[in-house]
Amino acid sequence: MREVRTTCAYCGVGCGIRAEVTGERSVTIRGDAEHPANFGKLCSKGTHLGETVGLDGRLLHPMIGERRAGWDEAIGLVAGKMRDCIEQHGPDSVALYVSGQLLTEDYYAANKLMKGFVGSANIDTNSRLCMASAVAAHNRAFGEDVVPVTYQDLDEADLILLVGSNTAWCHPVIWQRIEAAREARGTKIVVIDPRRTETAEQADLHVPVKPDGDVGLFNALLSDMVRRGLADPIPAMGEHGLSPDVFAALADLVAAHPRMVTVFSMGANQSVAGSDKGNAIINLHLAMGRINAPGMGPFSMTGQPNAMGGREVGGLANMLACHLGFSEAEISDVSDFWQAPRMCSGPGLKAVDLFRAVHDGRVKFLWVMATNPAVSMPDAGFVREALARCETVVVSDVIADTDTAKFAQVRLPALAWGEKDGTVTNSERRISRQRALFDAPGEARSDWAIIGEVAKALGFAGFDWTSAADVFREYAAMTAVSVKHGKVLDLTDRAGLSDADYDAMEPFLWGGRHPMAGRAMALVPVEPRTRAVDPAFPLRLNTGRYRDQWHTMTRTGLSPTLAQHRREPLLEVHPDDAASARIIDGTLARVVTASGASAFRVLVTEAQGRGQVFVPMHWSDAMASGGRGNLLPDQSVDPVSGQPGFKNNACRIEPV
Ligand code: SF4
Repeated sequence: MREVRTTCAYCGVGCGIRAEVTGERSVTIRGDAEHPANFGKLCSKGTHLGETVGLDGRLLHPMIGERRAGWDEAIGLVAGKMRDCIEQHGPDSVALYVSGQLLTEDYYAANKLMKGFVGSANIDTNSRLCMASAVAAHNRAFGEDVVPVTYQDLDEADLILLVGSNTAWCHPVIWQRIEAAREARGTKIVVIDPRRTETAEQADLHVPVKPDGDVGLFNALLSDMVRRGLADPIPAMGEHGLSPDVFAALADLVAAHPRMVTVFSMGANQSVAGSDKGNAIINLHLAMGRINAPGMGPFSMTGQPNAMGGREVGGLANMLACHLGFSEAEISDVSDFWQAPRMCSGPGLKAVDLFRAVHDGRVKFLWVMATNPAVSMPDAGFVREALARCETVVVSDVIADTDTAKFAQVRLPALAWGEKDGTVTNSERRISRQRALFDAPGEARSDWAIIGEVAKALGFAGFDWTSAADVFREYAAMTAVSVKHGKVLDLTDRAGLSDADYDAMEPFLWGGRHPMAGRAMALVPVEPRTRAVDPAFPLRLNTGRYRDQWHTMTRTGLSPTLAQHRREPLLEVHPDDAASARIIDGTLARVVTASGASAFRVLVTEAQGRGQVFVPMHWSDAMASGGRGNLLPDQSVDPVSGQPGFKNNACRIEPV
């Protein structure tokens, strides 16, 4: 028996795990009591990771079509297709679509290949679907994508506002931490959410804001605090539509508790006004001076295990690397650091635009890593059409037959959680190690190693890493460029780590507890915006997650225990809306939008607001039965961040 300290595969809480390896592919999981993110606690998903480490359904060998191929042939084919595309159609005809499931080292390698060597910034990530709006809000307010608080601020807050976050289900260990603060110091909890979620049920106050009503609500709160003499005046158009009693109760709580943390998550970000929501929240904290001190600040909670790490090394098409942008000086310094032969000259295509470019033939070579856009993108039917039309689709994954892999000409077997080695960054900027528990199965390889092999086959220098530690050292050294440009991100003290030091690296926060203290911060006036109303689609559709499933279920779907929580996806409808549509609890009903339609079993519940319905996003064709949530949202995005508006889509419901 061998014990390995590692980090959970799933959400952005980034819980530390102690894994006891008990056999060739068996492991007992428990929380790491010494990890500062979770102090030994785990949620159901983390606890049952051991049920998901089998090799059933794994992609274990490179595949060209349905034929097993050797690595040399597969790498040669991918590099050849990429080279042909660049030569015939230019660098922007090539794109990578990557994932918050990648480790930072993988992300770094992918970003370097595209932005410095292919010469295009057409590399975007599924983190675009998750927190790109929070990134935009941070950049506008702080000049850098910095989360200005840590989990310790939740422990020390007297008031926690949870905006668009079903924390008890989606970040359960953070919820336990919030409950502990309530127990220890009487912290008040407010949930601002159109749905009365499981989190809202347990809050001191549920504020049923209308869909996309958050900017108006936070502006109204700010005006109220100015009136009370508690905030600096800034122009802010408030409009909240809440009952006066609910608004007054919220405003009184805010006024009375200077130690206030506002957590915002997908319910805020996945909106056509997501960036403005982030800034409306940050504005309230800035105008009231509630930031950069214990127990206070705006806190974007990320969804994925390494969305933050990806942001740090430039996984988004509109960032360069190490939090740098596309000014001439930044491009030049990054080019010098990489000795790049062909630097990109500006931002690339963000996820929705990227798949449009695949659809209309501008992008002819697409390499998808560790994500399943045929299920997870909005208007997923359109994305499937785009994948079917694309000249070359390469998929690197751990699972052989995802909905996306069906479109691939080449499939490359990647290492999974429990096999790969590297680092992840959680929601509070804490970098932790993921460590291998098992030997690599079949011919699977690390993503950074696969990317390095393709780069070398293309004739590029600078990809001769032999370990994850090598890649990490290069990234850490590169943060000298961030520092030169005045950024907070600084890992230069780790650029010389030995392999042994890297292996033993303890979790650490970059930037310290309150990294914006003493730095310039900007109020960004924002105004409420909403989607157009269409009489053919009178209801508002929200999509979201279940407690015990993760994304497109390629891993959590393997766990029999996790399947018990919700066996199928349910359409949640208020009783009045169900009656109007002649829909009965427990029967099947179809949700129809301008983009698609899908049928779900109905759950009639008063927890759902009138005029709104909810479906989960997890189910795919690969999971056999169950409605497909992401066939329904349209391609609308936030104009600043490019994040899709998964929330507040116009729909109607009808009996099947
Ligand atoms: Fe894993 Fe997130 Fe659960 Fe922690 S809260 S155990 S990181 S899924």
